[in-house]
Amino acid sequence: MRFARLATSDGPRYARLDGDLATMLDAAPWLGARSASPTVSSWGPEQLLCPVEPSKIICVGRNYAAHAKELGNDVPAEPLLFFKPPSSLIGPRGTIVLPIQSDRVEHEAELTVVIGTRARNVAVSDAMKHVFGFTAANDVTARDLQRKDGQWTRAKGFDTFCPVGPWIETDVRPGCVRVLCRVNGAERQDGRTSQMVFDVPALIAYVSSVMTLEPGDVILTGTPEGVGPLRAGDVCEIELRDDETSGELFLFRNDVRSAPST
Ligand code: MG
Repeated sequence: MRFARLATSDGPRYARLDGDLATMLDAAPWLGARSASPTVSSWGPEQLLCPVEPSKIICVGRNYAAHAKELGNDVPAEPLLFFKPPSSLIGPRGTIVLPIQSDRVEHEAELTVVIGTRARNVAVSDAMKHVFGFTAANDVTARDLQRKDGQWTRAKGFDTFCPVGPWIETDVRPGCVRVLCRVNGAERQDGRTSQMVFDVPALIAYVSSVMTLEPGDVILTGTPEGVGPLRAGDVCEIELRDDETSGELFLFRNDVRSAPST
């Protein structure tokens, strides 16, 4: 099933999408939402908002060996975790704003887990029971500030640095996804989640051994090799496909612009 968060005349509403029809819900689907009235209407892509409202955005660094290597890093012995703030979220049609503090902002296409039920100290074998579904994200990063600061909070945390969307799919095989990024139509990243160092169940179990995962929380699972710069005027496209059937799962494009000088 496919779920989205839509801009409507009544404000943002979660909905289940069936082709061009949307069944409106009275809450987030991972919170036991029921159909709201009027239940069904047509929808258009211009209505798509960021499909999640997480209490926390947990990210995994260096989870693909080739990407760790391209930045001169080793693969970590345990998952390397960091946060992005919820204030960094934008939707699949939002604009990435390049901050004046950075001269090098880069894209990172990532498969993203949406948690469905509270998870604390879960076993790897039970981890998938806590997943509601999956979406796609761009872990936008100020690479120069990441190197300069050591701590990654500033480099990863600017407003607009976490585009997510365009929807959530419940029927995804997380180990069988192709992860692509194009900038102005030119391919930058083309990786496979089968190349992850730590797979999705291992990541959920590991994160849950540190912090309680709440319904609606998201985990960005790391990016494959091919990260590169974003410049004002670029269009950055994130695409995830089923790696076996090539069926499209997620596709969205964000414009990139400079922050206005103040
Ligand atoms: Mg990343």
